Amino acid sequence: MKIKFLGGAEEVGRLAIKMEEKNTKVMVDYGVIPEKPPLYPMPPEPVDGLFLTHSHLDHAGSLPIYYHSKQARFYATTMTANSIRPLLQDSLKIAALEGYPEVFNGTDVDQLYESLVPVNYGESFEEGVFTVVPHSAGHIPGSTMFQFNNSRSTLVTGDLFTDRTNLLEGAVPVKSDILIVESTYAGKNHEDRGEVIKRLRRRVKEVVDNGGKVIFPTFAVGRTQELAMILADMDVNIAIDGMGNGITDIYMHTPGYLRSYKDFRAAIHRTHRVKGRRMREHAIENDVIITTSGMMDGGPVLGYVDKLKEDDKSAIFLTGYQVEQTNGRSLMENGTLKIAGNMVRPKMQREFFDLSAHAGHDKLVKFIKGVDPETVILCHGEQRENLLSDLSEYEVILPMNGEEFEVG
Ligand SMILES: [Zn+2]
Ligand SMILES: [Zn+2]
Repeated sequence: MKIKFLGGAEEVGRLAIKMEEKNTKVMVDYGVIPEKPPLYPMPPEPVDGLFLTHSHLDHAGSLPIYYHSKQARFYATTMTANSIRPLLQDSLKIAALEGYPEVFNGTDVDQLYESLVPVNYGESFEEGVFTVVPHSAGHIPGSTMFQFNNSRSTLVTGDLFTDRTNLLEGAVPVKSDILIVESTYAGKNHEDRGEVIKRLRRRVKEVVDNGGKVIFPTFAVGRTQELAMILADMDVNIAIDGMGNGITDIYMHTPGYLRSYKDFRAAIHRTHRVKGRRMREHAIENDVIITTSGMMDGGPVLGYVDKLKEDDKSAIFLTGYQVEQTNGRSLMENGTLKIAGNMVRPKMQREFFDLSAHAGHDKLVKFIKGVDPETVILCHGEQRENLLSDLSEYEVILPMNGEEFEVG
């Protein structure tokens, strides 16, 4: 089998993996690096099927580009397909607003959906010479590892999480000959998730008991819903604002992907859903506001921080990775961020809670040993070599973007 990364090999973002066996060509993911302006993978190469592991933009953000010039069957779970649509439309809006060159348009997004073939975990189907089996990747609801079976079996994880969370059961290794696995946290382990959640709940209570409010700048997909569940049984008023609302509605209407749909529904019913400007003015009366964007580069979060910036009883709690040159990173490192072009230094407390949904180093190694492949291909990481000493019994490949190589 020939493999070529059009993006995302030695970097976190714009993942695009092309695989070719006999006459069958497939692509797994076609993402973006959401910088300003965004960075795209190498131009689309013709394939028969495009497989999407999950709806984060670093995996899905360039998909419509594909349909601008090419056609392919588009395979994704219903949850993934439903969740990506508002994000792609938002990317279009941002591109127009910022004056970036148009790389895809609304028609391309429609074309993507016309090509959709919905898939289900554990139900195999054929694409050319491959019998493909989707499995849960445990990362966000709907996230999928694809196993491509021919004379050999190849498992592609996308983003991977093996711990149980409020939303999902962790991913389980699937025995395969070749493994293409993400390595975002190579060399790093996470603090115990249970302990992080305990600390987060304790700090929310402290801030609220002391008369302050907690702002959670949060990604729309997955994290918004998980935070609502983590805080559900606490005696605090919770508002959800921004794109997280639309995604939450999609989760409500796409059952079958959550560990407990009943608990999820109960948690969401406890929250105040902020829709529209008038509701936003009152939303500040809540104790906790979960809102986009997760890296604070736009969205309603900036309005809330602007209102509370002089209040040292209130707090900003970040729970996700903050990319360099974002407001979130600047706030963590320097205590400053830009709101409407002005540099602001909020007096609010600020704290980071690691709720990452990527397997840390030791859990990646455990997962890889569970798959027990002959060949491991590491991607989606900047420090992949940190895994080498723990994988000495396997053939390990660290591909680079644009380089074509053969395995199996
Ligand atoms: Zn992801
Ligand atoms: Zn990713």
